[in-house]
Amino acid sequence: MLVILSGVSGAGKDTIKKELIKRMQDVESLPSYTSRKPREDEEEGVQYHFISKEKFEEKIKNNEFYEYDLHHNNYYGTSKKLMNEKIHNGKIIVKDIEVNGTENLLEILKNETKVVTIFLKVEKEELRKRLEKRGDHLSPEDIELRLGRLKYEESKICNYDYVIKNDDFEKTVYIIETIIKSEKKLLEKNR
Ligand code: 5GP
Repeated sequence: MLVILSGVSGAGKDTIKKELIKRMQDVESLPSYTSRKPREDEEEGVQYHFISKEKFEEKIKNNEFYEYDLHHNNYYGTSKKLMNEKIHNGKIIVKDIEVNGTENLLEILKNETKVVTIFLKVEKEELRKRLEKRGDHLSPEDIELRLGRLKYEESKICNYDYVIKNDDFEKTVYIIETIIKSEKKLLEKNR
């Protein structure tokens, strides 16, 4: 099963994903490939595999991605090989992907894997505060770029099974844990 978390950059996807992995036994992340530079607290192979733009384009040519997107001037993509390995081992993958990638993956995986989609909603001014406080020193232009994306991302909410207002970390994690457990039970029942 693949659980997709979406919502604009700063919506809290990464922190929530880490907490779910800590709390739930079968849940794992799936690092994407990206051409952006690592942030201070990021390690190769944990959130992402960091590669150059040229190497990324080579992988596109070799058809190594289920989907990829050019986002904030950087590439992001989901590796076919890495995802298939985890799913065949019975893992529940929690992955944060922006709205275009989600749309593509839903189409590609619809007959192969159960995909559960969750959208995290945050108010614009709250989001601005979070982006300003974040440790990766975003420039004012970078912050505006991310805020400008909010309307577009929210226009895709109809593709999601669940929409959660992420104004309370504990509550959000609890709701997502409950969703994952229920979806897993339903999947086992329908097998
Ligand atoms: P960030 O640079 O803040 O880590 O991520 C920027 C955006 O890229 C986020 O909205 C994140 O969800 C998205 N992203 C991360 N991995 C992938 C991926 O494999 N494919 C797509 N399409 N988007 C991704």
